[in-house]
Amino acid sequence: MPILRNTDSLRNWRQQQRGSLALVPTMGHLHAGHLALLRLAQARAEQVLVSIYVNPLQFGPGEDFASYPRTLESDLQQLAERGCTTVFVPSDEDLYPRGAAEQTQVVPPERLSNILCGAQRPGHFTGVATIVLKLLHLAQPDILVLGEKDYQQYRIVGQMLDDLNLPVQLLCGPTQRDGDGLARSSRNSRLTSEQRILAPRLATELRQLCQLPVGSLVQAPARDARERLQAAGFAVDYLELRNSESLEPVSEIRPGARWLAAARLGDVRLIDNMVIP
Ligand code: AMP
Repeated sequence: MPILRNTDSLRNWRQQQRGSLALVPTMGHLHAGHLALLRLAQARAEQVLVSIYVNPLQFGPGEDFASYPRTLESDLQQLAERGCTTVFVPSDEDLYPRGAAEQTQVVPPERLSNILCGAQRPGHFTGVATIVLKLLHLAQPDILVLGEKDYQQYRIVGQMLDDLNLPVQLLCGPTQRDGDGLARSSRNSRLTSEQRILAPRLATELRQLCQLPVGSLVQAPARDARERLQAAGFAVDYLELRNSESLEPVSEIRPGARWLAAARLGDVRLIDNMVIP
């Protein structure tokens, strides 16, 4: 499995490739969610490029950039065992040679990026859009594979592809969960054993909210769910029903609308979302 460690080697590799290519961007510490995206990519393209890069541009001051889990050797082993064709592992100096602060950035529309996670993490989606656009220019894939778990990211990147006329097909892989419902996340490994027991309650609340009768008002049940989570020990950043396309607030239960939530246990921030069937 070729491991490309800088942008020059990626460009050289790309020039020699024929056939369709799918890109799966990750920040590493791979889990079943990432590996499901790899399988989806392998089913849809002849070649798969997985990138592993903890992008400093999408972390704010005081966020978990320094403590984000980095397990490159075991990541590479897992990818090789699953037949991944190529991995891109760039360095900060290579991707941001002038430093992150001097980097030209892609600013997604405020309507999508200043809400939900963007309200708590100013600049986060600018960092995400910027790294994804750089990866697309470098790798020139036919297909980009993202996970539904980061739904706001999926919508913002989808709109960027449209708005900037990028000839890339976007695929969304369903959220992979542990047996108790907790959405897989690299950050889960930072939960204490007590927090890990509590963590699936976030998914449980979303699942229950998805079962409310169509047409019922969402304000009271959403408030009750937030209060139950707070009482259990979560600090809830948001728990809201939104339109799956526009991400605008939705006030009554409708099929296709989506519950989205972010909540912290200690300093670990969990996000999750579920669509009303
Ligand atoms: P990350 O490494 O957390 O930046 O995630 C890399 C990609 O994997 C993103 O497209 C995520 O949406 C996706 N992803 C993360 N967790 C999951 C999950 N539990 N199920 C499916 N996809 C996921």
